[in-house]
Amino acid sequence: MTDISLADRIDALLPQTQCTKCGFDGCRPYAEAMAAGEAPINRCPPGGEAGVAALAALLGQAPLPVDPECGSVPSQLHVALIHEQHCIGCTLCIQACPVDAIVGANKLMHTVVPELCTGCELCVAPCPVDCIDMVPAGRPWTGEDAVAARQRHQHRQRRLALLHDEPAPVARTLANKAPIAALSSQQPDKKKLIADVLAKARARRQTP
Ligand code: SF4
Ligand code: SF4
Ligand code: SF4
Repeated sequence: MTDISLADRIDALLPQTQCTKCGFDGCRPYAEAMAAGEAPINRCPPGGEAGVAALAALLGQAPLPVDPECGSVPSQLHVALIHEQHCIGCTLCIQACPVDAIVGANKLMHTVVPELCTGCELCVAPCPVDCIDMVPAGRPWTGEDAVAARQRHQHRQRRLALLHDEPAPVARTLANKAPIAALSSQQPDKKKLIADVLAKARARRQTP
């Protein structure tokens, strides 16, 4: 059985970006796997070598280089930026964001709240019109950010558990990308597509 208190102490050392680069569905599952002795300590690129060293000290293990198979992260924090003039309001990025850092609604423009963004990049791949870029945040990722991101992720997980009996959001958003991208590519002019979408949304709102 997993030692929960050890998992808590491990989790406290993880950056909480919830990026899944470790191969787990967020920081907590990775922490629990390490606590159970089922995962190595070097699978968190956002934590970097310092993070591995902290885990090594806690667990009495030798430090290791970060596993390159887990990918890399920029040397400074980046956050997502939605080019709103191209957004078609499909909501896939909202569904993918592990910390609810994106606001918007179906058929409406979406935007990222940069102060809440962890830089996890999980919203980038699902966007069917490629209108999300990662840009420098101009600030570091702090311990306070990590605590807040953990809370937001936990809140989101509880909400999703109540709402869905379906595949995990990341898998679901990627599965939905192709049909929406195909639909949008049938429109040669993105501005026309957006105008059509907004006109339909307005018409629906005006319908009693
Ligand atoms: S920050 Fe990303 S790679 Fe590191 S433990 Fe959390 S989810 Fe895994
Ligand atoms: S806005 Fe995108 S990059 Fe930022 S936390 Fe959400 S999914 Fe990750
Ligand atoms: S995934 Fe892209 S097109 Fe869809 S709502 Fe998000 S930013 Fe807009």
